[in-house]
Amino acid sequence: MVEGFGKSQSYEDEDMQQDYTISAISTAMGEGGIGIVRMSGERAIEIAAKCFRPMHGGKITDFAARRALFGRIYDEDGRFLDEAICIIMEAPHSYTCEDVVELQCHGGGLVLQEVLSLTYRLGASAAEPGEFTKRAFLNGRLDLSQAQSVMDMIQAKTAASLELAAGNLQGRLSGRIQDMRQEILSIIAHLEASIDFPEDDIEDVALSEAELKVEKLHGELEELLAFADAGQILRDGLKTAIIGKPNAGKSSLMNRILGQERAIVTDIPGTTRDSIEEYVNIGGIPLKLADTAGIRETDNLAEKIGVERAYSHARDAELVLAVFDGTELVSEQDEPIWHLLSQCRGKIIIIINKADLELRLSEAEIRKIAAEKEVEEIYKIISMSAKGGTGLEELEENIKNLVFAGKISRRESVMVSDARQKNILCQAMTLLEQTRVTLLSGMSEDFVVIDLRSAWEKLGEITGDTLGEDIIDEIFSRFCIGK
Ligand code: GDP
Repeated sequence: MVEGFGKSQSYEDEDMQQDYTISAISTAMGEGGIGIVRMSGERAIEIAAKCFRPMHGGKITDFAARRALFGRIYDEDGRFLDEAICIIMEAPHSYTCEDVVELQCHGGGLVLQEVLSLTYRLGASAAEPGEFTKRAFLNGRLDLSQAQSVMDMIQAKTAASLELAAGNLQGRLSGRIQDMRQEILSIIAHLEASIDFPEDDIEDVALSEAELKVEKLHGELEELLAFADAGQILRDGLKTAIIGKPNAGKSSLMNRILGQERAIVTDIPGTTRDSIEEYVNIGGIPLKLADTAGIRETDNLAEKIGVERAYSHARDAELVLAVFDGTELVSEQDEPIWHLLSQCRGKIIIIINKADLELRLSEAEIRKIAAEKEVEEIYKIISMSAKGGTGLEELEENIKNLVFAGKISRRESVMVSDARQKNILCQAMTLLEQTRVTLLSGMSEDFVVIDLRSAWEKLGEITGDTLGEDIIDEIFSRFCIGK
């Protein structure tokens, strides 16, 4: 937790505190060595005491908290359900700051389901998605950007994505935002002093200082925004399509990228998203290949549906890798590919493949045709051999440059990671620009203070200090159950 982050002022209302006890299976579905049923809330220990019997006798409440107790779980009728380890974490020394009990059972779906149902019958309620983390947030243990990064860590697709999420969980982004908010408060305090004591002639000094500081804050926001898109891509993946004529080498390129053992193929079942997506890792950037089957089907140009699907993916993609067989000259058969490229909204990297053989297709030729066909978004043309592996590093470098817009990503860079956060930064920038205009127009300090307060409040939406309950609920509903 970051120093100085107490419970946010908006959530101190008693009626927002959760007084019921929640329970959920916190480990992944499917078979596993162990699986954990976790409870949080006032009745968590009481419910565990009713179903868990320590192996060496006594009640769980006889033992010190945060000790692993071996024992057995029985239902209300005394039927044995499982052997388990029980760990009690008393409030406030737990993830949620409430009483938490973990029942570490055998990791079979049915066993866990039975234990979970038992906790419901004994008085627990089913946890909503993300409810444990939401409680941690409402109880002031994490701020909103930290809470969001918990989910980002779970879903991280490459080492770079994980690094970003881990940094934000440790409070990297929150720290930066809180520093900026603090600075805004200090400018406000100064201006208010000059309003309260006009005779002290500190007015002009306060205004010119405010101008300098607002300028500096504006610069900091600009810097954060410069990396916002990269942060989002590291979190969500870069929407990518691989296109090309049959036999150009699309599958070979995919295999080459996958064969580097740096690839991660992730299935995200319906808990948080509706569709299954595949990710490949190239240079730390997760490329999101949505429904690659469709793209692979371009082999069969006769199958209209497959082709049309591939086309629509390509049109929507943020990055299109267009693979050409470099041993052939461009022919009429390439016409549909060029037509498609002219409709793409994302950046295009053209790959002249089969560079291990004698190439007949040159970069100049490609550029000439691209100009004729009005294909404007070509980011780079690369010769490579998907089969032999040459050119893969150049492809990696170019994708990295594209994502970081030529800026080197410093490991310690602070990045926001979703569209909501980016939007808040943009709005805060606009408010600071407005503050500048107010300052320059020579209006009274009162107006400057009003503008600054708006910027302060806006930035608080990133950390969750100033945010409505409905938006908080919406954010946590995207979490998985049990987290
Ligand atoms: P796709 O239809 O576009 O997916 O193309 P494939 O990846 O299936 O490749 C078609 C043929 O080209 C296969 O026989 C590959 O072995 C061959 N091929 C692909 N890439 C290269 C390359 O870089 N060099 C050479 N010499 N052959 C390649």
